[in-house]
Amino acid sequence: MSSPDKNLALLIILAGPTGTGKSTLCDGITGKHAGIQRVITSTTRAPREGEVNGEHYYFFSQEEFDQKIEEGAFYEYAEVHQAQHRYGTLKSEIQGKLAADQDLIMNIDVQGVASFQRAAENDPLLKQRLVTVFLMPPSLEEIERRLVERGKEDRSAIDQRLATASKEMPLWNTYDFCLVSGTREEDFSKVESIWMAEKLRVARLDG
Ligand code: 5GP
Repeated sequence: MSSPDKNLALLIILAGPTGTGKSTLCDGITGKHAGIQRVITSTTRAPREGEVNGEHYYFFSQEEFDQKIEEGAFYEYAEVHQAQHRYGTLKSEIQGKLAADQDLIMNIDVQGVASFQRAAENDPLLKQRLVTVFLMPPSLEEIERRLVERGKEDRSAIDQRLATASKEMPLWNTYDFCLVSGTREEDFSKVESIWMAEKLRVARLDG
């Protein structure tokens, strides 16, 4: 019989429309808690200033990315942001760490989450450990306000992001949890609570 104090490592995935600070949340949680690590994903996009290979992403050429697909090295991969760049999650970044009791958190796009949910159907380790969290923006108007305030994109890029967001918002009920994004502190403590509660779920401990 399994013991109730068993530590079962989880893979927490945060996803949802733009403008909810998912990546800041991931960094906040891993920065505060030594017990949870961020999954480093892969991309074909060029590094931005200050980004380091193997720390922010694994930066692959198109050929390297194709090679990884051929090897079956990804749990999932997707073209994000109008098919400009490919992003993917390497199995090697997850399997060994979960087996070694390391809790993990990551932020990927909604296509990636759907792929993980499908993969979990035939993957007992993933099925037992996956926790999906949808971050819902309070409204489209609020996303627009946040994007304008952030000032990183021009009007047409903002409109594109808003169109994508309105397509993504109805997906909330396919996730384990949905939280409506509030202040950074509120979102942070809700994600912490989800993490803590999911570690104690009897169905996982007894599985
Ligand atoms: P950025 O290029 O701004 O770093 O990331 C763009 C988007 O790619 C983010 O919304 C992030 O959620 C998504 N992303 C990052 N890594 C992965 C991944 O491995 N798979 C998928 N499907 N999306 C990812």
